[in-house]
Amino acid sequence: MFFFFAGGVENQVRQVVKSGAGKCLNCRSPSDLVDYDKVLKLFFVPVWRWPEKDQLMHCNNCNLFFPPSPRLHDVDLRCQICGRGVESQFSFCPFCGSSL
Ligand SMILES: [Zn+2]
Ligand SMILES: [Zn+2]
Repeated sequence: MFFFFAGGVENQVRQVVKSGAGKCLNCRSPSDLVDYDKVLKLFFVPVWRWPEKDQLMHCNNCNLFFPPSPRLHDVDLRCQICGRGVESQFSFCPFCGSSL
C-alpha cells in the first residue's frame, strides 16, 4: 500500500508583531517576531486555517520559522525524589507526585 499525501501543515505569517526583533538561525539576516496561522494544504490548496496564539520568529530571507528564544530552563529542574527532569513551571512532579 502506497500513500502519496500531497499536502501538509504550513506556518503562514498573519501579522508582524515586531520587525527586526532577532536574527535568523539559518542565514543570520534580521527576522521579525510574528503572529502566525497554521494552514492545512491539500494538493497545494489551503483548505483549513487556524490561528496559533504563540508567536514565532520569521525570516523573510529564507522563509524559516523558529522559536523566539530557546527554552533552556525547561528541563534543568529535577525531582528530588525520583530524579527525573521536570518542566520548570510544574510545582508537582508528574511522575511521582511529590512537590518540587
Ligand atoms: Zn533566514
Ligand atoms: Zn518525582
